Amino acid sequence: MASTSDVLIVGAGVAGLAAAQALTAAGRRVTILEARDRIGGRVFTHPASTGDAPIELGAEFVHGRPPEIFNLAKSAGLQLHEPQGEFWYSQNGRLYQDEFPSERNPVFDRMQKYHGPDLSFRRFVDECCSDVPAQEKLWATAYVEGFHAANAELISLRSIIGGEKAEEQIEGDRQFRLAHGYGGLVEVLRQAIEPGRCEWLLNHVVNTVRWKPGNVEMEMRSPSNTLSLSAVPLAPLSRCP
Ligand SMILES: Cc1cc2nc3c(=O)[nH]c(=O)nc-3n(C[C@H](O)[C@H](O)[C@H](O)COP(=O)(O)OP(=O)(O)OC[C@H]3O[C@@H](n4cnc5c(N)ncnc54)[C@H](O)[C@@H]3O)c2cc1C
Repeated sequence: MASTSDVLIVGAGVAGLAAAQALTAAGRRVTILEARDRIGGRVFTHPASTGDAPIELGAEFVHGRPPEIFNLAKSAGLQLHEPQGEFWYSQNGRLYQDEFPSERNPVFDRMQKYHGPDLSFRRFVDECCSDVPAQEKLWATAYVEGFHAANAELISLRSIIGGEKAEEQIEGDRQFRLAHGYGGLVEVLRQAIEPGRCEWLLNHVVNTVRWKPGNVEMEMRSPSNTLSLSAVPLAPLSRCP
């Protein structure tokens, strides 16, 4: 079946929604294929949340002051607040009141001064931090594997350094919460998508993507059937403003 859309978007997480918003604003027709029965992806404020006590099952914090989120929230009248309080962490069953240990970890200090070729975080720790105390290396690795949800053997050191530099531009050491839940932002994005230019297919799991210049084909499964959808051509996308 040939789609009348210019673009097929797989996933209605915030990335898919933002892409749909930008593309429909530029006059393109899009089809959003989402495996779940809801939009938002890993941003999911529990529907039973009360207004001033949101229960976040996914993203909770806005890290720093990224203009993409702050401007969107401001234009929609969504309140952001900066939580106050003390840092506590548990180690070996004991609670400690302290900053998060990554804040002043010597591995991260050394990483900022590293100018060699790219390598995995694990290799960097092994090869460039042999004199750093083992406990600090453990904390740094736990932070990378926890915060970035990354495998230390695989994640590129340069990607972490780049991320940290980008965070400096937006006061990344500050954290904010959307007062009524992150789900409000998902709804703002949904409403910003031009309805006449967007087809929504929830409960559609894309199994296969076949791409060649000028043509893309996807196979997907829905609760009622298996279908295949194609959109042509991809090339004009490069002329999108
Ligand atoms: C528990 C948790 C806490 C987090 N906390 C924070 C936080 O505090 N601050 C922060 O900034 N970030 C946080 N994150 C990360 C943040 O939620 C994600 O970075 C962000 O939501 C990713 O958005 P995305 O659109 O790229 O991907 P996703 O949200 O993963 O969206 C992808 C979408 O694609 C759909 N999909 C996948 N495969 C297919 C397929 N084959 N066919 C059809 N559809 C498909 C999925 O169902 C999903 O809806 C957290 C994540 C988790 C899980």
